[in-house]
Amino acid sequence: MIITTMTQAIGSTPLFKFTSKDYPIPEKSFIYAKLEHLNPGGSIKDRLGQYLIEEGLKTGKITPQTTIIEPTAGNTGIALALCARQHDLKTIFVVPQKFSLEKQQIMRALGAKVINTPTNQGIKGAIAKSKELAQSIPHSYLPLQFENPLNPQTYYHTLGPEIIQDLSTNLTSFVAGIGSGGTFAGTAKYLKEKIPAIRLVGVEPEGSILNGGEPGPHEIEGIGVEFIPPFFDDLNIDGFETITDKEGFDCTRELARKSGLLVGSSSGAAFVAALREVQRLPNGSQVLTIFPDMADRYLSKGIYL
Ligand code: PMP
Repeated sequence: MIITTMTQAIGSTPLFKFTSKDYPIPEKSFIYAKLEHLNPGGSIKDRLGQYLIEEGLKTGKITPQTTIIEPTAGNTGIALALCARQHDLKTIFVVPQKFSLEKQQIMRALGAKVINTPTNQGIKGAIAKSKELAQSIPHSYLPLQFENPLNPQTYYHTLGPEIIQDLSTNLTSFVAGIGSGGTFAGTAKYLKEKIPAIRLVGVEPEGSILNGGEPGPHEIEGIGVEFIPPFFDDLNIDGFETITDKEGFDCTRELARKSGLLVGSSSGAAFVAALREVQRLPNGSQVLTIFPDMADRYLSKGIYL
């Protein structure tokens, strides 16, 4: 495969098949993980960055003068910055202070300006700051992944079809983390259309509200919500798994040690939830999950210490 822009390497990621040989999975059941950390920007959000910019150019919301401004935990920023290179667009990202320094450095390496908001204001603080900046910067475009229907649409049109292409309709359950909710909602909608009986299970860290908990701090990055994402209205979600930081990080280390999977803590959390799901389903079940990003952007946070 010969490419001329890095965006051409986005998508078509492999599926990793986990069996009872190495993990506590019933003998005839399987877990599959879509290895989204292998995208060129290191995360699932590359798909979103590409889709947002292509749609923005098509509809005229983005022109050569545009500055893209977005609140992000980091991966969406990296993705937008990577895809913006191709069209020479300016990017500004508003990132709550607590998120990993590696992500912020990578955004800068890709030509972006990074502005931090206080950790205690959460993602809501970053959203408010982005909107404020957009008022004062001419030709600015705010994709606003937390409310933009293009977010779930990205995954409906890309991730969902890739999964069905590789696994046909042999799936019992879809288990995935929820940050903006775009990955979960878009992929779930596509899978449900193809496999009406499929179970849909969302994953959140402790300190997220989907199981009725209070919002609070957590170390697992990229998932967890302070408000219910607006993309879930038509989805019949079967349940949410809440994973502690310790469970998520222990599993993240195990995935590296046992299987050479160098993935971030939201992948570890997704795998803990996928294991719970496969263990409560009948033997012969097939569970699909997503590994959203790579580990090396969390080294300074001691992911492997
Ligand atoms: N894991 C990581 C590491 C992420 O950065 C994100 C995006 N915030 C997710 C999972 C969740 O993806 P989504 O925003 O589509 O819910």
